[in-house]
Amino acid sequence: KNLKKYYPITGGVLGGEVGVVKAVDDVSFSVKRGETLGLVGESGCGKSTTGRSLLRLIEPTSGEIHFDGVNVSSLSRDEMRKMRRDMQIVFQDPFASLNPRHNIEKILEEPLIVHGIGSSAERKKRVLEMLEVVGLSSYHARRYPHQFSGGQRQRIGIARALMLNPKLIVADEPVSALDVSIQSQVLNLMQDLQREMGLTYLFIAHDLSVVRHISDRVGVMYLGRIVELTTSGQLYSNPLHPYTKALLSAVPTPDPDAARERVILQGDVPSPANPPSGCTFHTRCPHVTDECRTKRPDFRDAGNGHFVACHLYKS
Ligand code: SF4
Ligand code: MG
Repeated sequence: KNLKKYYPITGGVLGGEVGVVKAVDDVSFSVKRGETLGLVGESGCGKSTTGRSLLRLIEPTSGEIHFDGVNVSSLSRDEMRKMRRDMQIVFQDPFASLNPRHNIEKILEEPLIVHGIGSSAERKKRVLEMLEVVGLSSYHARRYPHQFSGGQRQRIGIARALMLNPKLIVADEPVSALDVSIQSQVLNLMQDLQREMGLTYLFIAHDLSVVRHISDRVGVMYLGRIVELTTSGQLYSNPLHPYTKALLSAVPTPDPDAARERVILQGDVPSPANPPSGCTFHTRCPHVTDECRTKRPDFRDAGNGHFVACHLYKS
């Protein structure tokens, strides 16, 4: 709720604060139990910062995070550590997130040790069970991260996140580093696991085609804000925000008759250290008006829970 993460920019001759990067700038959303909320946008839009802030791996500048009735933002470090049993993250680069000097058994056992769960024998049993759940086998337990393919490493990253039987998984671009053929295997695995374990996902991606099939609802981020949020079906069949339309124009559609209004993005994403006034998308928007340059559009319901922040939609 009203989540913000601002980073000071230091510099100048005195090394003082010379500005601020608004990495996440007043973002509010909810994720329902058992659903997948996709969060999409170009790199630097604040989606990873948002995901990590929910778990307080990054401390937000302000705003509130509520999880299962608990105000996570007010928990002490120790209480937060306990809370992380229920809230886990899967990273984009499984290789960077797995300790190269530890074998898989040790990597998967670690969360259990940290939380003081089970005897050594029980932990090892759980490791083998979890390897199987993600499509690997006991045969892999003694191997090291470098002995696995990218897809296998991501399965290990997922297994590690599941060791504590969490409720929520923040998946931060979990398939972006994988070959397209492997991507769908990992996405299918994640969907199966969600059904079997009753998981809730916040699924972060830079590509709308990746979140399409896995997400119940999708939020589109631009320069630290959510500009559109609705069901997956609505977003793809009836996108409202010009930025969403531009992102969708870049996604190949299997049906050539389903010609969407094509919007080609002009220029680059402006620097979040110096975002445009008014609607931050105005420097790239084909529908820009004077109002857009001065007045920030409210995030409002355009009907049926389809939220959009754009002056074109005022009821
Ligand atoms: Fe474009 Fe204006 Fe809508 Fe921003 S508010 S997306 S500039 S039409
Ligand atoms: Mg990222």
